[in-house]
Amino acid sequence: MRKEFAVIGLGRFGGSICQELHKEGMEVLAIDRDEDRVNQFKHIASHAVIADSTDETTLKELGIKNIDHVIVAIGDNIQASILTTVVLVELGVKKITVKAQNDYHAKILDKIGAHQVVHPERDMGRRIAHSIISNNIVDYLELSDEHSIVEVKAGKKMIGKSIIDLDIRAKYGCTVVAIKQGSHINVSPTPNDILTERDILIVVGADKDIARFERQLV
Ligand code: ADP
Repeated sequence: MRKEFAVIGLGRFGGSICQELHKEGMEVLAIDRDEDRVNQFKHIASHAVIADSTDETTLKELGIKNIDHVIVAIGDNIQASILTTVVLVELGVKKITVKAQNDYHAKILDKIGAHQVVHPERDMGRRIAHSIISNNIVDYLELSDEHSIVEVKAGKKMIGKSIIDLDIRAKYGCTVVAIKQGSHINVSPTPNDILTERDILIVVGADKDIARFERQLV
């Protein structure tokens, strides 16, 4: 059976999730208390409903309990986001993802039982910060509080050298897990592969090690 999703809050973040799920052919119930926002999603979501998500009766009537995954994308209204999450947890929704505005908000969401808490603005800020440190950093993804993955273009200091020449693991404590070249991806690079200017390295490691790698090699 196809998975069913609900997105509560159709601002920029919730709206973009809704659009992407629709593009991927998923069933989406879109909910917002603002009529104009709901109207914008009438043709994108499978169902678009005007409702206040802090109201338990309304959510029950919408059958939210049977939805596989609910995304709470309420922006600045932290109180509404928390109340909505409490109601969803109490109704026993299987998977609840909530957007957090700040660390305090995230802590509360975690405590009240949200299954996944996301920080899109913070994460995007970090990714952009890394990409502006150097033009060679293509992307950055946080794995945990202390570990990340970076995608870096092979810089001048790397071209014509192998992973073993650069001694990346010993010198920087990071591991090259894959090398991309256009649409081709080599997921088990050998230490002797010679890097070319078309290569993009996918490197995993502790943040402090990655920072050193970025400063010295990228
Ligand atoms: P973003 O930063 O992602 O653009 P916004 O704050 O603009 O977020 O949007 C959040 C959306 O959540 C708004 O469309 C707002 O109407 C909706 N919203 C806020 N509180 C509730 C609520 N209690 N029930 C339903 N929708 C809500």
